[in-house]
Amino acid sequence: MTTWTIDGVREALAAKKVSARELAADFYKRIAERNPALNAYLMLSEERAYAQADRIDALVASGKPLPELAGVPIAIKDVISTKSVRTTCGSKILEHYVPPYDATAVERLEAAGAVILGKTNCDEFAMGSSNENSAYGPVRNPEATDRVPGGSSGGSAAAVAAGLAVASLGTDTGGSIRQPGSFCGIPAMMGSYGRVSRYGLIAFASSLDRIGPFATNARDVAATLKVIAGRDSNDSTSTTAPVPDYVTAMERPVKGMRVGIPKEYFGEGMDDGVRKKIEAGIELLKKMGCQLQEIHMAHTDYAIATYYIIATAEASSNLARYDGVRYGLRVDDSSLLAMYCKTRGAGFGAEVKRRIVLGTYVLSAGYYDAYYLKGQKVRALIAQDFRDAFTKVDVIVTPTSPVPAFKLGERTADPLQMYLADIYTVTGSLAGVPGMSVPCGKICGKLPVGLQIFGPAFGEASVLQLAHAFEQAGGASL
Ligand code: GLN
Repeated sequence: MTTWTIDGVREALAAKKVSARELAADFYKRIAERNPALNAYLMLSEERAYAQADRIDALVASGKPLPELAGVPIAIKDVISTKSVRTTCGSKILEHYVPPYDATAVERLEAAGAVILGKTNCDEFAMGSSNENSAYGPVRNPEATDRVPGGSSGGSAAAVAAGLAVASLGTDTGGSIRQPGSFCGIPAMMGSYGRVSRYGLIAFASSLDRIGPFATNARDVAATLKVIAGRDSNDSTSTTAPVPDYVTAMERPVKGMRVGIPKEYFGEGMDDGVRKKIEAGIELLKKMGCQLQEIHMAHTDYAIATYYIIATAEASSNLARYDGVRYGLRVDDSSLLAMYCKTRGAGFGAEVKRRIVLGTYVLSAGYYDAYYLKGQKVRALIAQDFRDAFTKVDVIVTPTSPVPAFKLGERTADPLQMYLADIYTVTGSLAGVPGMSVPCGKICGKLPVGLQIFGPAFGEASVLQLAHAFEQAGGASL
């Protein structure tokens, strides 16, 4: 099986070695073969994909220059709206929902020539770390099929890792791009908050949600991010900061780059195998000429509690709109209140209900100050830790996850165990900074480990620069 890259696709199309239609058909064939076992795709958008492929083939025939993602088969997480293509958020409550418009990120991908193959499985409303909260069954990790692919963007990670898409979009609220990237052994990036428009992303926690790419190498991550990034008047939180040419910027040498290693990210609870690989990764960074420095991020210990207060509070508010009146499922009853209760009772899964209850509680009049307000204050301290660190170093390196991909079912009985898997990722989410996971070897040659790289706000180029150099230096095969 060929591993396609973005440049590989463009070159093959330009040289007429393959047509965009043939390429899309080849990917659908791969999907038909592997998806029944992996469950990475929930929906295929064949009609839309072939129409786009034909437009690209017409461009090739006309000899006109090809746009940057011409013919590149891409998968989209099912919390991102796609016009006329069912978008369920992995939930029964939106089982039959067909959005009337495209998310800006999707629109930009297609405008750059990408071929949208379909929608990928995820934890319900992106709440989870293993993809086991999907109403449509779990995804299996292509590297070890008895294990989870990570979550919540498990389908997007698995699709790329299994060669069922060249790149994909996921979303990250507390780790949902970086952690599945790490579990499936591929690079995955969350840009700064505001870097990519959230228009058309179905909200989980609006102050944290971000859309970002998965691909098979750092270069393709950069190329995909470049296309989707930038100001969008439909999302007032999207930044007007210019979008650098990440692909060129990432080629800069990393010799002398100041890399901070926060002590707080190497405490107890980390798997031994993960620790060894990350230590080997840090050794490699030294050999590459980076200047390593131990740093302190004093409020790291409070990150999980803070995240699960703020994220659930926002979720309880965002999910109030699913009332059986305006969107999705309705379970009828003669009384309005009973209709609301029955609809939400039948439509939401257990984890979503748990979060709505938690979020409503921390926002309630009697507890607002003790939980939500306090959470916001601690969030500000965590963001300050990052700002302080970036006065001393250019990037920060940590493990992405304390553990490698775990077995299906291993953590479902204990929600707290599941939440703890996010210990190293939620900090950057709360601080709004960019973060990326890059492959850092495999435990026993089998289970991938991810090295996480954080950069200052809107410093994606430095993150990609280090990720690319680490990959070139052999980070994935440590
Ligand atoms: N695992 C975290 C959660 O369950 C993060 C999810 C996400 O980033 N969407 O909330």
